[in-house]
Amino acid sequence: MKKLSVQDVDLQGRRVLMRVDFNVPMSSAGGITDDTRIRASLSTIEFIRARGGQPILMSHLGRPKGKRVPSMSLRPVADRLAELSSTPVRFAVDCVGEEARMALEALHPGESGRLENLRSHAGETANDPEFARELAQWGEIYVNDAFGTAHRAHASTVGVTEYFDLRVSGLLMDKELENLGSLLADPARPFVAILGGAKVSTKIGVISNLLDRVDSILIGGGMAFTFFAVHGLEIGASMVERDHMDTVRELLQKAKSSRTELLLPQDVVVSSTFGEDGETREVLVTDIPEGWQGLDIGPRTTRLFSDTIAGARTIFWNGPMGVFEMPTFARGTRAIARAMARATDQGARSIVGGGDSVAAINQMELADRISHVSTGGGASLEFLAGKSLPGVEALSDVSSTPV
Ligand code: AMP
Repeated sequence: MKKLSVQDVDLQGRRVLMRVDFNVPMSSAGGITDDTRIRASLSTIEFIRARGGQPILMSHLGRPKGKRVPSMSLRPVADRLAELSSTPVRFAVDCVGEEARMALEALHPGESGRLENLRSHAGETANDPEFARELAQWGEIYVNDAFGTAHRAHASTVGVTEYFDLRVSGLLMDKELENLGSLLADPARPFVAILGGAKVSTKIGVISNLLDRVDSILIGGGMAFTFFAVHGLEIGASMVERDHMDTVRELLQKAKSSRTELLLPQDVVVSSTFGEDGETREVLVTDIPEGWQGLDIGPRTTRLFSDTIAGARTIFWNGPMGVFEMPTFARGTRAIARAMARATDQGARSIVGGGDSVAAINQMELADRISHVSTGGGASLEFLAGKSLPGVEALSDVSSTPV
């Protein structure tokens, strides 16, 4: 069901309670080390202001577990937001209660309100109705622009929506739903998915759902070794999830019956230790030495995967091909990132889904050569696994709502 967007409603003179994702990385000294998420939120904030609305922003930061933790205060974020946006931001030192009320009552027209960390109250993650009701008093319209938390039913993403007639998506949320939705709706073919990362257990849903929809699925990273174990290969000391071998068998069966090409690595980079100080070798997957561990895809696989990506018209990627945090094992991941950028230059639509693959794209400064870089790792995987996201479900349907 299509959801109502902030673009569809009259905002003039209205207070707009907006869930944003300001869960930014902070240094131990309390500085923001990456303000991408704050910058990304500006489009919706400025949109609301340009349409005569007054944004009241709420977010979580880290996991303070229901307590006020000074190192997880959103004050530095409010300061950074004030620097980046054209208008003043008034910071409330709590998100509910008297302090919040006083700060918001003192708001001048044209100012934005910024509430303190939602998770400093246990009611947020517990989706407590009373906490949700308290939050709801701060606005007349509810906007959710935090795609990355939409898969969690928390007070600020689900509970609070009960109290609003107009519950709409923000511009970032719109972009995520449109881009990820296009993968499931009507992707141009060939459609190729590349999945990597540590564990197959965290990606079973997405692999299973995509198997019915893609033309090829390329598996790399640590999770490939559970597939090899199913094939009876000797995998040395490589990462493996033996308790998920039956599920992997089912996935292989599903690939066969849906005639989807499922490509596994043909060669890997193995190391005598988990780290960069060991001995490394490039070997065929049939020749992994005893006690050694596979930490990246090998050159033959890199070529095979890159060629498959070059022939695709729609590409989705989640999860590194190896332990890319260590330069010795980053070659496969970096090559996939480059192959995606090249394919996009040639007209393919490319989507990178959250987490480490986004970090790789950013490290390589390739983000502007990718069609869409998703901000929500877990949320994008659940969406592509075909699950409904509670934070999206809770928004008003286009058809049922008077605007
Ligand atoms: P995920 O969060 O599941 O996407 O996993 C990302 C993590 O997988 C990264 O920290 C990588 O270092 C790790 N990873 C990728 N390939 C391997 C591998 N072959 N062995 C161990 N860890 C891996």
